[in-house]
Amino acid sequence: MKIVCIGRNYADHAKELGNDLPKEPLFFNKPDSAILAKGNPFFIPEWTSDVHYEIELVFKVNRLGKYIQKEHAWKYISEFTVGIDFTARDVQEQLKTKGQPWEKAKSFDGSAFIADQWLTAEGVDWDALTFGLQKNGEWVQQGKAKDMIFKLDTIIEHVSQYMTLKIGDLIFTGTPEGVGPVSPNDVLTGYINDQKIFDLKVK
Ligand code: ZN
Repeated sequence: MKIVCIGRNYADHAKELGNDLPKEPLFFNKPDSAILAKGNPFFIPEWTSDVHYEIELVFKVNRLGKYIQKEHAWKYISEFTVGIDFTARDVQEQLKTKGQPWEKAKSFDGSAFIADQWLTAEGVDWDALTFGLQKNGEWVQQGKAKDMIFKLDTIIEHVSQYMTLKIGDLIFTGTPEGVGPVSPNDVLTGYINDQKIFDLKVK
């Protein structure tokens, strides 16, 4: 399986990192080796001194498809949750400056945390759905699904023109504003609406 991640999909987050808004979905991949094993803490790699959390809505693909039209996109998704797209921001800045791909900063082992608990996507009011992240009990990110620049149907239509979506693939849909660094012993807590979805320790 693969993980497709959307970058700069919330205007206030693109702004906080000094990026222009994309005109079409910007995406990159994480390999399956990036998935943080269930129950494990997140270990900060030794080659970075600035790993950021990015809380994101994550959707699971349940049907094989290519060239999926927008109006059929939701047939390819049945469950969603939240996850963290861990990013070595210092390394990413160096790569961006050199015009190089982001994999070292975004696709390393453990960089894809996905909560264990999945929710049913059918019937959800996406205009009302909120999600967020607390670090050590303080809110650091609070997002609204309706603030996505490119909604999930547009993302699926766009990405599936380039790569086949397969059963079990995951789509990270971008992070709202408020990204910041993690330190050893931090505890990250993720929410969808008022519901606590995960606790994750940092080492
Ligand atoms: Zn992200």
